Amino acid sequence: MLEVRSISVSYGAAPALWDIDLDVAQGELVCVVGPNGAGKTTLINAVAGLHRVGGGRIRYQGEDITQLPPHRFCDRGIALVPEGRRLFTQMSVLDNLELGSFIRRAKVQRRQTLEHVLALFPALKAKLQQPAGSLSGGQQQMVAIGRGLMARPGLLLLDEPSLGLSPLVVQDMFNAIRQINQEGTSILLVEQNVSMAMALAQRAYVVEEGRISMQGSASELLQSPAIQRAYLGLGDGEPAPAPTPSPSPSSSPPQP
Ligand code: ATP
Repeated sequence: MLEVRSISVSYGAAPALWDIDLDVAQGELVCVVGPNGAGKTTLINAVAGLHRVGGGRIRYQGEDITQLPPHRFCDRGIALVPEGRRLFTQMSVLDNLELGSFIRRAKVQRRQTLEHVLALFPALKAKLQQPAGSLSGGQQQMVAIGRGLMARPGLLLLDEPSLGLSPLVVQDMFNAIRQINQEGTSILLVEQNVSMAMALAQRAYVVEEGRISMQGSASELLQSPAIQRAYLGLGDGEPAPAPTPSPSPSSSPPQP
């Protein structure tokens, strides 16, 4: 459904991404990992239409969207949950969520989508009238993801959803992400938590110094010595961490 071909992105004269190829198939959950400053945020923002790409093409559902303005990416069904959440902290949780459904296609189904988001994140039900900034970090991340879902995207772009959250909250967040994907939304996930992201994803890309250095099945990459040395702190011969426990998301609703 998403085909990125040979894109490059620069900040002024400084190149940040070179010759990137990336695909997300319908229904897939794909992760992008890599060290700080490698270009992961630049890549996911480019897929959201926030950067003018210097070369190459982005196609979504068969349509070339490379030259469309950012809000047209959202119209087409691509929603970004940015790094750092970017909520309107003085506004209520409900207003933040509803802001996600400003496009016409989403507006007409706002009530049903809100019910769905609250079923996914029941902790938000009692907080709808509170300022978003008064919520815990985990709850704010739920609002950010919920706002993305309110646009009824076919492809959800998640940039570092685990950032700054405690391990238990991260586990709940990843369970919710798995559920969103199992319900049919394709996901491109940028994460620093390499082991958890690769346990969740079907395929993975490793970005290093602005280029794709490795790609493949997430479970195979997780076993590769290069990944284990560089990202999991393991030496050769040590077993890879067991995949994260994955209770059925519905049996473990996310908590703050
Ligand atoms: P992190 O994990 O730290 O968020 P990242 O892999 O997401 O890193 P990017 O934020 O995409 O990496 O940054 C890629 C490169 O582009 C880095 O060298 C960074 O310094 C540079 N860069 C990012 N944003 C800007 C900007 N607004 N102006 C100039 N250079 C930028």
